[in-house]
Amino acid sequence: DPVVHIEQLSADALSSELKSLEAQYADLAQRKLALDLTRGKPGTEQVSLSDALDGILDRHYLAENGTDVRNYGGLDGLPEAKRLFAPVLGVPEAELIIGGNSSLTLMYTVIDFALSVGLRGPESAWGNDDTVKILCPVPGYDRHFALCEHLGIEMVPVPMLDTGPDMNAVEKLVKEDSSIRGIWCVPRFSNPTGCVYSDETVARLAALGKLASECFLVMYDNAYAVHALHENAPALANIREYCEREGTLDNVFQFGSTSKITFAGAGVAFASSSEANLKAFKQHLGFQSIGPDKVNQLRHVKLLRDAEGLQAHMQQHAALLRPRFKAVLETLEAQLTGTGMGDWLTPEGGYFISFTTRPGLAKEVVRLASGIGVALTPAGATYPYGEDPEDSNIRLAPSYPSLEDVKATAEAFVVCVKLASLRQLKGATS
Ligand code: PMP
Repeated sequence: DPVVHIEQLSADALSSELKSLEAQYADLAQRKLALDLTRGKPGTEQVSLSDALDGILDRHYLAENGTDVRNYGGLDGLPEAKRLFAPVLGVPEAELIIGGNSSLTLMYTVIDFALSVGLRGPESAWGNDDTVKILCPVPGYDRHFALCEHLGIEMVPVPMLDTGPDMNAVEKLVKEDSSIRGIWCVPRFSNPTGCVYSDETVARLAALGKLASECFLVMYDNAYAVHALHENAPALANIREYCEREGTLDNVFQFGSTSKITFAGAGVAFASSSEANLKAFKQHLGFQSIGPDKVNQLRHVKLLRDAEGLQAHMQQHAALLRPRFKAVLETLEAQLTGTGMGDWLTPEGGYFISFTTRPGLAKEVVRLASGIGVALTPAGATYPYGEDPEDSNIRLAPSYPSLEDVKATAEAFVVCVKLASLRQLKGATS
């Protein structure tokens, strides 16, 4: 059958389509599905790729420099771990610290430090002002937003384009409003749109420090730095090189982790900024920890070894992820292309597919899906305060379920999208 755009359906066709979808939906409800596409968790086969971490040290606990990793000390991490992870962020080893198991913890600590203690001493604390704001490209990562809300930081949404945040909007806001102290970025395979920031966007982000208020921070969360789905996926420009040229190294903090490389929640996280920022930050860290888990750092060095080892490891992840993404995308393409019932982006890496419903339907689609045992990320989660002004964005995360379950979920999702769209149209026309 030729594809008909939803707005071109005759009244009869609309009624019969709707009837058929109601029947499909009822049929799905009978099947007692228990499917979950909510969070970007690596699948079991993916985490199993790193099972060799267990016992890999074979009771050899000495780092290169003779440090016994079983004992206290070394707040900024092992030198060999820095050598392994510095290229992931494209920074010199001297500008990297290796932390514990979570980059989110490092991000929280950086924000809390800038807010309450001050990157350049008490006078510079953001919190000295009544209002502190951070720019949030939307749709974006819900945990960045929750962190801000928790710390009483006001979030200012800015549109996310295919090239990254809308830099015209960002620059204008930053120039006009000195209470804006930072911006969240997931620069490669953004969560959730999957876009890779263009070179121009990266260059303009690097220059923001010159336009903005003092101690402005680009929170550059490169969580998916090496998480391409195929070899030709777009590269990301090196923000540090631009910062060096602009004299803004103090205005960027970069983050990464192995949560989606080895074990989620039991990997190694790292952060980079100027030497001055890191010095101040380490002093702050010293109050909360005597040092990170160096045993795990050494285990990671033994497993991944070097840039080539890391790349080979990531290719194995990609091989497991590709069919899951393909299953969702093929279903969306086959069932929804040209129908006007939704749009989506085809990511070349990362963990998500960002889906846009007709305005006002995201919550309804999530509700319908939940009614037949398909759990989706709550609508609105990708916006500050959970408020999607259009109520249209849904984040799909196909990594965790089995391929069979991903396929079943995608089919069920499409039924929910169509049902919600046709009911809305019918309501509008009847
Ligand atoms: N940043 C982004 C953009 C993420 O998607 C995630 C994981 N979902 C994290 C950070 C969390 O990283 P970690 O496990 O290192 O705290």
